[in-house]
Amino acid sequence: EQINPGNTVKGKLVFDVPAGTTFGLVGESGSGKTTTAKMVMGADEPTSGEIVIDGRDIARHDKTERFAFRRLLQPVLQDPYSALSPRMRVDRIIDEPLRIHRVYPGKKARAARVAYLLDAVGLPPSAAQRYPNEMSGGQRQRVAIARALALEPRLLVLDEPVSALDVSIQAQILNLLRDLQDRLGLTYLLISHDLAVIGFMSTQVGVLYLGRFVEVGSKETILSDARHPYSLALIASASSDANAPPVSGEIPSPLSPPSGCVFHTRCPSARDRCRQEIPPLRQLKPNHLVACHFAETIRLETKNA
Ligand code: SF4
Repeated sequence: EQINPGNTVKGKLVFDVPAGTTFGLVGESGSGKTTTAKMVMGADEPTSGEIVIDGRDIARHDKTERFAFRRLLQPVLQDPYSALSPRMRVDRIIDEPLRIHRVYPGKKARAARVAYLLDAVGLPPSAAQRYPNEMSGGQRQRVAIARALALEPRLLVLDEPVSALDVSIQAQILNLLRDLQDRLGLTYLLISHDLAVIGFMSTQVGVLYLGRFVEVGSKETILSDARHPYSLALIASASSDANAPPVSGEIPSPLSPPSGCVFHTRCPSARDRCRQEIPPLRQLKPNHLVACHFAETIRLETKNA
């Protein structure tokens, strides 16, 4: 399937996330990544726009649809320790959603499913009898992934899935997630402040600032031809690229966002127009959208600065 971000349907911008791909959301703390994840999970309503999954606006789900939807979409959170009940054994933790949704009737079928899931996430059968506090951070995250997979979801929302782990363990978990995506055809919404993680995992990348997309494109475009000064600043802080401008100052409160371009208070390229006019998210080339009045020249300017 072709990725076609910025498609306009009935006057609304549409971002498709084809099955089996990863949409990476990147931004610093306070940029709205977790709020976006909550909206996709149905826990928060967007102030504008819709989240449509399988052709249905999730805000319009009735009770039955909401219950079924929870099966299709599962979260994997940053801190597996807080996500897993310390009083439950691992086999019960993974079994719990199976019992609630009654998709594997009978203890035997559920036990076989738990054993399969432990193996799928690279844990030995003996892990079933352990408690989360007897495991390492990486093992706990594997348990959280096994639990998320229990109901055969189609979409996983990965909210900073490795940021609480040691760097050496991070690569193992990311490789596991990629392997599971290939084997099971999973679709991921990946949320991370870390561009290296986003670059390793994503097909498509959206850069968020104060709850708005400021740039969207393929991973290759964002990493090698970003045009928004905020994207360039994120890349600079991740790679020490001397050609990219640093981002200074604090992110403003989303409750009182700056006028005009929301990034103008921190943008090294800001001009008068930026303080007055909101830049629309517009297409620069196929599969590349930028919300900056001066996107065509901004990269050139920063290189020559
Ligand atoms: Fe910077 Fe202006 Fe572009 Fe906003 S519109 S990112 S302030 S140059």
